[in-house]
Parts: sequence; structure tokens; C-alpha cells
Amino acid sequence: MLLIRCPYCGERPEIEFRNMGEAHILRPGTDASDDEIADFLYRRSNTKGLIAERWRHVHGCSRFFNAVRHTVTDKFVSIYKTGEPKPDLTALAASLNGVARS
Ligand SMILES: [Zn+2]
Repeated sequence: MLLIRCPYCGERPEIEFRNMGEAHILRPGTDASDDEIADFLYRRSNTKGLIAERWRHVHGCSRFFNAVRHTVTDKFVSIYKTGEPKPDLTALAASLNGVARS
């Protein structure tokens, strides 16, 4: 069973959580074009590799948090509270691959 670490409750079984989709998607302003609204509602990066996602501990504290997960291995690389900045996914990927950063 996969264990996910809630930043508020600690490690819990994956069945207590729900993936809420890609994180850091900002709602466009009232003057947004149709294309910007379509981006907000429907278009996601669909990344193969690391992605920042929004998660909710639905059968626990019910709080939202963000996590960086590898979409191929399903491994959680980083977990952080909502409102904290998005980690540098390129740097995280490089550190996972053992590549030195410039
Ligand atoms: Zn929790």
C-alpha cells in the first residue's frame, strides 16, 4: 500500500487521499479572453515526469496540500502546504537523476 505524508497528520494510507489535479493553476481575471478561460478550465500540462499536484486528505484532516509526484514511478518527491511556493521541478528532476546543477 502506498503511504502519503500529509503535512498536517503524517503518513497515512493512500485511500485516505484524493488527487485534485494540477497545482498552481490561477483563475484568470474578469477581463480574460475565451482562450485564457479555456486554459484555466480544461488545459493541463499532462507531464511525463515530475508534476506539482493539489491533494486533499479527505478521510483525515480534510485539508488541501501540494505534492510533487513523478507520473511514471508514482513516487512523491516533495510535499508542501498550500500557499508555499512551487518547488523548482527542473532542479528536483536533476537531483533525482544525479545531474549537477549549473
Ligand atoms: Zn491530514
